[in-house]
Amino acid sequence: TPTIGVLALQGDVREHVHALEQAGARATTVRRRSELESVDGLVLPGGESTTIDKLLRIFELDEPLRAAVKDGLPVYGSCAGMILLADRIEAGIEGQRTIGGMDVTVRRNAFGRQVDSFEADLDVAGISDAPGGEPVRTVFIRAPWIEEAGPEVEILARIPSHATDGSPVAVGAGKIVAARQGRLLATSFHPEITGDARVHALFVSLVRHSGPHEL
Ligand code: GLN
Repeated sequence: TPTIGVLALQGDVREHVHALEQAGARATTVRRRSELESVDGLVLPGGESTTIDKLLRIFELDEPLRAAVKDGLPVYGSCAGMILLADRIEAGIEGQRTIGGMDVTVRRNAFGRQVDSFEADLDVAGISDAPGGEPVRTVFIRAPWIEEAGPEVEILARIPSHATDGSPVAVGAGKIVAARQGRLLATSFHPEITGDARVHALFVSLVRHSGPHEL
Protein backbone atom coordinates (compact mmCIF):
# COMPACT_ATOMS: atom_id res chain seq x y z
CA THR A 1 0.00 0.00 0.00
CA PRO A 2 1.52 3.34 -1.01
CA THR A 3 1.79 6.15 1.50
CA ILE A 4 0.51 9.38 0.04
CA GLY A 5 1.01 12.72 1.71
CA VAL A 6 -1.29 15.72 1.64
CA LEU A 7 0.47 19.07 1.87
CA ALA A 8 -1.06 20.49 5.04
CA LEU A 9 -0.15 24.17 5.08
CA GLN A 10 -3.59 25.49 4.09
CA GLY A 11 -6.63 24.23 2.22
CA ASP A 12 -8.98 21.28 2.35
CA VAL A 13 -6.52 18.74 3.71
CA ARG A 14 -8.90 16.48 5.58
CA GLU A 15 -11.12 15.82 2.56
CA HIS A 16 -8.10 14.66 0.54
CA VAL A 17 -6.89 12.41 3.37
CA HIS A 18 -10.32 10.83 3.44
CA ALA A 19 -10.56 10.42 -0.35
CA LEU A 20 -7.08 8.85 -0.50
CA GLU A 21 -8.03 6.34 2.19
CA GLN A 22 -11.23 5.58 0.28
CA ALA A 23 -9.04 4.95 -2.78
CA GLY A 24 -6.93 2.41 -0.88
CA ALA A 25 -3.84 4.43 0.03
CA ARG A 26 -2.31 5.18 3.40
CA ALA A 27 -2.65 8.95 3.84
CA THR A 28 -0.56 11.26 5.94
CA THR A 29 -0.11 15.02 6.29
CA VAL A 30 3.07 16.77 5.16
CA ARG A 31 4.36 19.96 6.78
CA ARG A 32 8.10 19.31 7.01
CA ARG A 33 10.86 18.21 4.77
CA SER A 34 11.32 14.90 6.59
CA GLU A 35 7.64 14.12 6.03
CA LEU A 36 7.96 15.00 2.34
CA GLU A 37 10.86 12.61 2.04
CA SER A 38 8.89 9.71 3.47
CA VAL A 39 5.93 9.67 1.06
CA ASP A 40 5.44 7.80 -2.22
CA GLY A 41 3.24 10.55 -3.65
CA LEU A 42 1.84 13.92 -2.66
CA VAL A 43 -1.46 15.77 -3.01
CA LEU A 44 -1.51 19.57 -3.22
CA PRO A 45 -4.99 20.48 -1.99
CA GLY A 46 -7.34 23.26 -2.99
CA GLY A 47 -7.20 26.46 -1.01
CA GLU A 48 -5.53 29.72 -1.88
CA SER A 49 -2.49 29.33 -4.11
CA THR A 50 -0.99 32.67 -3.03
CA THR A 51 -1.16 31.66 0.63
CA ILE A 52 0.19 28.17 0.01
CA ASP A 53 3.04 29.68 -2.04
CA LYS A 54 3.96 31.97 0.88
CA LEU A 55 3.72 29.18 3.44
CA LEU A 56 5.82 26.84 1.28
CA ARG A 57 8.60 29.41 1.41
CA ILE A 58 8.18 30.13 5.14
CA PHE A 59 8.28 26.39 5.93
CA GLU A 60 11.25 26.02 3.53
CA LEU A 61 9.42 23.37 1.60
CA ASP A 62 9.42 25.09 -1.79
CA GLU A 63 12.88 24.05 -2.97
CA PRO A 64 12.63 20.49 -1.56
CA LEU A 65 9.28 20.12 -3.31
CA ARG A 66 10.69 21.41 -6.60
CA ALA A 67 13.55 18.95 -6.28
CA ALA A 68 11.18 16.09 -5.46
CA VAL A 69 9.05 16.84 -8.53
CA LYS A 70 12.19 16.86 -10.69
CA ASP A 71 13.24 13.54 -9.19
CA GLY A 72 9.92 11.99 -10.14
CA LEU A 73 7.71 12.23 -7.06
CA PRO A 74 4.12 11.68 -8.24
CA VAL A 75 2.04 14.74 -7.37
CA TYR A 76 -1.66 15.44 -7.77
CA GLY A 77 -2.74 19.09 -7.58
CA SER A 78 -6.38 20.08 -7.24
CA CYS A 79 -7.50 23.66 -7.93
CA ALA A 80 -4.94 25.80 -6.02
CA GLY A 81 -2.76 22.68 -6.26
CA MET A 82 -3.10 22.74 -10.06
CA ILE A 83 -1.86 26.34 -10.01
CA LEU A 84 1.16 25.24 -7.98
CA LEU A 85 2.04 22.54 -10.51
CA ALA A 86 1.89 24.88 -13.50
CA ASP A 87 5.06 26.21 -15.10
CA ARG A 88 3.26 29.46 -15.97
CA ILE A 89 0.49 31.41 -14.35
CA GLU A 90 -1.86 34.14 -15.52
CA ALA A 91 -3.71 36.50 -13.16
CA GLY A 92 -1.41 35.57 -10.31
CA ILE A 93 -0.63 38.22 -7.73
CA GLU A 94 2.60 40.18 -7.77
CA GLY A 95 5.51 37.92 -6.85
CA GLN A 96 3.44 34.74 -6.79
CA ARG A 97 5.51 31.70 -7.63
CA THR A 98 4.64 28.14 -8.48
CA ILE A 99 6.44 24.86 -7.94
CA GLY A 100 6.03 24.00 -11.61
CA GLY A 101 6.70 20.75 -13.42
CA MET A 102 3.75 20.75 -15.80
CA ASP A 103 4.23 22.48 -19.12
CA VAL A 104 0.98 24.43 -18.86
CA THR A 105 -0.22 27.98 -18.41
CA VAL A 106 -3.03 28.26 -15.85
CA ARG A 107 -5.38 31.16 -15.40
CA ARG A 108 -6.38 31.81 -11.80
CA ASN A 109 -10.03 32.49 -10.92
CA ALA A 110 -10.74 31.89 -14.57
CA PHE A 111 -14.48 31.38 -14.47
CA GLY A 112 -15.17 34.88 -13.20
CA ARG A 113 -17.74 36.21 -10.80
CA GLN A 114 -21.04 34.90 -12.06
CA VAL A 115 -19.90 31.35 -12.14
CA ASP A 116 -17.47 31.43 -9.26
CA SER A 117 -18.66 28.02 -8.18
CA PHE A 118 -20.63 25.35 -9.99
CA GLU A 119 -20.96 21.61 -10.39
CA ALA A 120 -20.61 19.71 -13.63
CA ASP A 121 -20.63 16.09 -14.76
CA LEU A 122 -17.43 15.60 -16.66
CA ASP A 123 -16.07 12.96 -18.96
CA VAL A 124 -12.60 12.29 -17.63
CA ALA A 125 -10.23 10.15 -19.71
CA GLY A 126 -9.15 7.03 -17.82
CA ILE A 127 -12.23 7.20 -15.56
CA SER A 128 -15.56 7.74 -17.29
CA ASP A 129 -14.39 5.88 -20.40
CA ALA A 130 -13.64 2.72 -18.37
CA PRO A 131 -16.17 -0.11 -18.84
CA GLY A 132 -19.30 0.90 -16.95
CA GLY A 133 -17.74 4.27 -16.13
CA GLU A 134 -20.01 7.20 -15.41
CA PRO A 135 -19.15 10.88 -15.78
CA VAL A 136 -17.43 12.36 -12.76
CA ARG A 137 -19.46 14.79 -10.63
CA THR A 138 -17.13 17.70 -10.08
CA VAL A 139 -17.22 20.91 -8.09
CA PHE A 140 -15.50 24.08 -9.26
CA ILE A 141 -14.78 26.72 -6.62
CA ARG A 142 -13.10 29.89 -7.91
CA ALA A 143 -11.25 27.48 -10.11
CA PRO A 144 -8.41 27.95 -12.56
CA TRP A 145 -8.34 26.46 -16.02
CA ILE A 146 -5.49 25.49 -18.30
CA GLU A 147 -5.08 28.13 -20.94
CA GLU A 148 -2.31 26.40 -22.87
CA ALA A 149 -0.65 22.99 -22.67
CA GLY A 150 2.64 21.79 -24.13
CA PRO A 151 3.02 18.66 -26.29
CA GLU A 152 3.89 16.35 -23.36
CA VAL A 153 0.64 17.12 -21.59
CA GLU A 154 -2.18 14.63 -21.87
CA ILE A 155 -5.59 16.32 -21.72
CA LEU A 156 -8.01 14.35 -19.56
CA ALA A 157 -11.07 16.59 -19.38
CA ARG A 158 -12.60 19.75 -20.75
CA ILE A 159 -15.46 21.89 -19.51
CA PRO A 160 -18.83 20.82 -20.92
CA SER A 161 -21.29 23.39 -22.19
CA HIS A 162 -23.79 22.75 -19.38
CA ALA A 163 -23.60 22.45 -15.63
CA THR A 164 -25.27 19.59 -13.78
CA ASP A 165 -28.37 21.71 -13.09
CA GLY A 166 -28.81 22.23 -16.84
CA SER A 167 -27.72 25.86 -16.90
CA PRO A 168 -25.25 26.78 -19.62
CA VAL A 169 -21.67 27.35 -18.53
CA ALA A 170 -21.25 31.03 -19.35
CA VAL A 171 -17.51 30.97 -19.88
CA GLY A 172 -14.92 28.30 -20.28
CA ALA A 173 -16.73 25.64 -22.31
CA GLY A 174 -14.01 23.54 -23.94
CA LYS A 175 -11.26 24.72 -21.57
CA ILE A 176 -8.91 22.09 -20.17
CA VAL A 177 -9.70 21.22 -16.56
CA ALA A 178 -7.83 17.94 -16.02
CA ALA A 179 -4.43 16.96 -17.35
CA ARG A 180 -1.51 14.67 -16.79
CA GLN A 181 2.16 14.93 -17.60
CA GLY A 182 4.19 11.92 -16.57
CA ARG A 183 3.79 11.54 -12.82
CA LEU A 184 1.95 14.82 -12.40
CA LEU A 185 -1.83 15.01 -12.37
CA ALA A 186 -3.87 18.19 -12.09
CA THR A 187 -7.55 19.06 -11.93
CA SER A 188 -9.27 22.46 -11.77
CA PHE A 189 -12.04 20.90 -9.73
CA HIS A 190 -12.39 19.31 -6.32
CA PRO A 191 -13.16 15.60 -6.56
CA GLU A 192 -12.54 15.21 -2.82
CA ILE A 193 -15.82 16.77 -1.76
CA THR A 194 -18.27 14.70 -3.76
CA GLY A 195 -17.63 11.28 -2.23
CA ASP A 196 -16.44 9.96 -5.61
CA ALA A 197 -12.88 8.73 -5.09
CA ARG A 198 -12.15 7.75 -8.70
CA VAL A 199 -9.77 10.63 -9.41
CA HIS A 200 -7.85 9.75 -6.25
CA ALA A 201 -7.89 6.11 -7.32
CA LEU A 202 -6.37 7.18 -10.64
CA PHE A 203 -3.62 8.98 -8.72
CA VAL A 204 -3.06 6.01 -6.39
CA SER A 205 -2.58 3.74 -9.40
CA LEU A 206 -0.18 6.27 -10.94
CA VAL A 207 1.81 6.16 -7.69
CA ARG A 208 1.70 2.34 -7.64
CA HIS A 209 3.04 2.14 -11.18
CA SER A 210 5.71 4.80 -10.69
CA GLY A 211 7.99 2.64 -8.56
CA PRO A 212 10.40 4.28 -6.15
CA HIS A 213 11.46 7.80 -7.04
CA GLU A 214 14.87 9.10 -6.10
CA LEU A 215 15.21 11.78 -3.49
N1 GLN B 1 -8.84 30.75 -6.41
C1 GLN B 1 -7.89 29.95 -5.67
C2 GLN B 1 -6.47 30.32 -6.04
O1 GLN B 1 -6.25 31.07 -6.92
C3 GLN B 1 -8.10 28.47 -5.91
C4 GLN B 1 -9.44 28.06 -5.38
C5 GLN B 1 -9.50 26.64 -4.89
O2 GLN B 1 -8.48 25.97 -4.65
N2 GLN B 1 -10.70 26.19 -4.67
O3 GLN B 1 -5.56 29.82 -5.42
